[in-house]
Amino acid sequence: MPDHRAQRQASVLAALPDGAALLVTHLPNIRWLTGFTGSAALLLVAADRTTLVTDFRYANQAPEEARDAADVVIDRASVWERLQRIIRDAAFETLAIESHVMSVRDAERVSGMFRGKVLPLVDTVETLRQVKDAGEVEAIRAAGLLASQALAAILPTIRAGDRELDIAARLESALRLRGSEWHPFQTIVASGPRAALPHARSSTRQVQRGELLLIDYGAQVGGYCADVTRTVAIGEADERQRAVYQLVREAQQRACQGLRGGMTGREGDALARDLISARGYGDAFGHSLGHGLGLEVHEAPRLAATAGAELPVGAVVTVEPGIYLGGWGGVRLEDDVWLGPDGPALLTDGQTDFTILDA
Ligand code: ZN
Ligand code: ZN
Repeated sequence: MPDHRAQRQASVLAALPDGAALLVTHLPNIRWLTGFTGSAALLLVAADRTTLVTDFRYANQAPEEARDAADVVIDRASVWERLQRIIRDAAFETLAIESHVMSVRDAERVSGMFRGKVLPLVDTVETLRQVKDAGEVEAIRAAGLLASQALAAILPTIRAGDRELDIAARLESALRLRGSEWHPFQTIVASGPRAALPHARSSTRQVQRGELLLIDYGAQVGGYCADVTRTVAIGEADERQRAVYQLVREAQQRACQGLRGGMTGREGDALARDLISARGYGDAFGHSLGHGLGLEVHEAPRLAATAGAELPVGAVVTVEPGIYLGGWGGVRLEDDVWLGPDGPALLTDGQTDFTILDA
């Protein structure tokens, strides 16, 4: 796989004012720029060199992972004091910080230790991370494949009377056994009326025959996340459940096929929302259509009625319309889509035929 790290760092420098350096404190950004996967580090990207400062726990791992991408400095006492020594004598006069993730305390610390100008910036690296290279797309595709295999393995085991937590445990186990590095977010298993809560946590509630069961879960491969939602019926389904499901499915397919790089996030969102609204369920689709996906499970760009920004060619986004009716339940379907130069490509299986489990 080609090494994109030097090019990514050059893109960061090009996005900064002339002669400025960037102090990177957001770990996914550090990983993207250097390959370092540890849980504590500071990264200084300057025109003359890139320096990764971390602690003794990573004395072996950091030089290994960040080799050829950064000078690695291990400090046993304090990474911040070490950073102070590095920036005290630095040639740059402006030090940009990631103000959207840095604590007020750390920002004050930087101001106190740097004699030049401290420049608060927002989403400098995140904006660049929107556009995925081939290796990143393949990692998300691998996570998506693993996610569908894990769900396919546990769906036939679901029975009326199972607790939501039991189902979540079996799914998480199946994900791990197939090689998922972590669950990028808490697995949502929501049954019956609880499926009307878009971000329900899995509970001790027992799944009943005739209910809808909403499962929203993730997988992670090589640091990259897949994010999938499926809704199935337990044992039997009535007319209304089928009709709501088919509407969500139609809206989702319309968006998955119609999305293009170059659209705004609002135009992308409208692909699904206009259809749901036209059928009278607009108020029941209260969240945005989707979000970017990569090293983080929620990243730029956004597909939302309030998102005026363009969806860049090369972005990976989720497409997850839903209809939620209080007291009745809900349906959401979510797949992951790469906005390639020749149009959208599904990275998850898109298997959204209405499924009635034999329960
Ligand atoms: Zn999801
Ligand atoms: Zn999502």
